[in-house]
Amino acid sequence: MKRIMIIHTGGTISMKEDKATGEVNTDGRHPLQELNDMLGNVAEIEDEVLFYIPSPHMTPIHMLQLGRRIHEKLASKNIDGIVVTHGTDTLEETAYFLDLFLQTRRPVVMTGAMRSSNEIGADGLYNLLTAIRVATCDEAQDKGVLVVMNDEIHTAKNVTKTSTSNVATFQSPQYGPIGITTKRDVFFHHKLSRRDSYPIQQISKNVALVKAYAGMDGSMFDALRETNIDGLVIEALGQGNLPPATVDSIKKLLAMNIPIVLVSRCYQGIVQDTYAYEGGGRKLREAGIIFANGLTGPKARIKLMVALEMTNNPTELAPMFDY
Ligand code: ASP
Repeated sequence: MKRIMIIHTGGTISMKEDKATGEVNTDGRHPLQELNDMLGNVAEIEDEVLFYIPSPHMTPIHMLQLGRRIHEKLASKNIDGIVVTHGTDTLEETAYFLDLFLQTRRPVVMTGAMRSSNEIGADGLYNLLTAIRVATCDEAQDKGVLVVMNDEIHTAKNVTKTSTSNVATFQSPQYGPIGITTKRDVFFHHKLSRRDSYPIQQISKNVALVKAYAGMDGSMFDALRETNIDGLVIEALGQGNLPPATVDSIKKLLAMNIPIVLVSRCYQGIVQDTYAYEGGGRKLREAGIIFANGLTGPKARIKLMVALEMTNNPTELAPMFDY
């Protein structure tokens, strides 16, 4: 039987609903740790509670600690795969960080829940069981970090939370899931595109994320000059364009050697330097802005934080955002 290590970090999957008030919170005892007996016939399970926090409390420092813990477990024990339980709000950021950080061929699968452990229709135990089944699957090797929820398997790079409350919240817009699970089997139906990994030692850079809107001016970017940011990600309009009134302020940030990465606020498609009008992508690229290929704003921010641990030279950073 395969040996799977479960690392709990918190989130709704670890919480209970107070039946009197309807409030959802932790109560000091992780509900899923009592269920290991039920999980025992799928794999040999070892588990630990690394953090017990809602995922809006998760920081890049926690992500690095989690990544190191996974490396320790994979190095020190005969573990075939790792399952991480996590709150769903920031799950995709932790998943993508781990995808960039971890150096392993063994399956690393993340899961969570939209309903707490004692709510009607609670999805946590089912998702955990499914995640363990995927982690035991030979085909899950070499696929980077996977996210398993609601009978679907998603790549860390493409998955995003799309609904505030629906159990089918995790989707991979444009690409779809890489596989599905049924009661009996695990099926992978897509190949993984190229993955990159960065063995960083620390995560210390301050990267801001700003979303563009019609009529935006430079004031937000001017305010950022007064902060200590090391990098900036902008969710631009459409194919990668910005309102013209932002451009001078953005150029001042570039002149301060602050790398700026552009993604689109559209939830599908990639940014390209198509338009040559003022604020258009062509002009932004000429000014020195880096275009990220198909990442969401929060994920481009994680990647820029990781990349800045190696270089802040835009010429070296740009190719890292090509895929
Ligand atoms: N707010 C919760 C969290 O991310 C939501 C969840 O876990 O589903 O911790």
